[in-house]
Amino acid sequence: MKTTFQEDQSLVLIVDDEAFIRTQLRLALEREGYQIAEAKDGKEALNIFQQLHPNIVLLDAIMPGMDGFECCLQLQSLEQGKYTPILMITGLEDQESVDHAFDVGAIDYVTKPIHWPVLRQRVKRLIQQSQLQYKLELANQELQRLVTIDGLTQVASRRRFEEYFAQEWQRMARDQLPLSLILCDVDYFKSYNDTYGHRAGDRCLQKVAQAIKDTVKRPADLVARYGGEEFAVILPKTEMSGAMVLADKICSVVRRLAIPHSNSQVSGYVTISAGVATDIPQPGSDFQEMIAAADRALYQAKIDGRDRFQQSTKQSSSTFSIPRWGT
Ligand code: GH3
Ligand code: MG
Ligand code: MG
Repeated sequence: MKTTFQEDQSLVLIVDDEAFIRTQLRLALEREGYQIAEAKDGKEALNIFQQLHPNIVLLDAIMPGMDGFECCLQLQSLEQGKYTPILMITGLEDQESVDHAFDVGAIDYVTKPIHWPVLRQRVKRLIQQSQLQYKLELANQELQRLVTIDGLTQVASRRRFEEYFAQEWQRMARDQLPLSLILCDVDYFKSYNDTYGHRAGDRCLQKVAQAIKDTVKRPADLVARYGGEEFAVILPKTEMSGAMVLADKICSVVRRLAIPHSNSQVSGYVTISAGVATDIPQPGSDFQEMIAAADRALYQAKIDGRDRFQQSTKQSSSTFSIPRWGT
């Protein structure tokens, strides 16, 4: 969909091998206020289409060389072709030709001799419809972005987390590869809010999210806001040892942000605790159990003193304490 012309100055590409028909169409449509481009065959039509991005194409079916049906097919495969309506204009009105036109992607079909009042309305409506469809598509994309990104921290949303975790669970189950999950929770965050205010709390979450995101490097890794002050990191194809190195880094990186937290019982700064779980998913097994395992490990890290991470395995678990910032 081209955006360089105003709605009332839409560009119409007329494709017909007969110069007389092109001129007739041009005069009629110029009177309606459209800008006009002309092509005398399919090949020229494709070139002009790519250069000018018209709002609509009026396409003759029977032309020497590449005919209108083939041209219509090729236009559809171009970048802008998806949103640009193609109106076939032809002397053929047998069922086969009409079916063929719709099969190759024409949005509508009118026959010669041209009934001008009808053509005028069709062109207007088709341009309006395609512009609406394009706007709808943009709105949908924005909506999609909004549901997959957390508004405050700009990391992935909880919804995206659920979707991606389920997807990677399936993929790792199929390939029998390890999947790791780190759940992080800001320590004493309620008292941070109570001390510095909710807005400062929000800014703190933004910094923590960014720090986690900067630490996680592989394209397949995903950092998400799991809940209020909880973040989750999904690590496909990652063993427990690798996930533990990362959990350690995340704890350190947040500690080194050195965000003052005078009421933290850990240190004078904002810290996080983390729980790590790793599994080679079995087909048909429940991924919720892995989330619960990471959550139990996180809980254990809290009990063990916070500002640290805890590893969870199905059989056993152990704690890894990290040297305190500044001590
Ligand atoms: P713990 O060390 O055990 O994790 O203690 P905590 O105080 O961090 O945990 P708790 O669950 O008691 O408190 C979490 C706090 O996080 C309470 C809630 O108001 C705050 N919070 C959750 N979401 C947001 C948010 O979007 N912005 C701000 N500013 N605070 C939030
Ligand atoms: Mg919490
Ligand atoms: Mg907390």
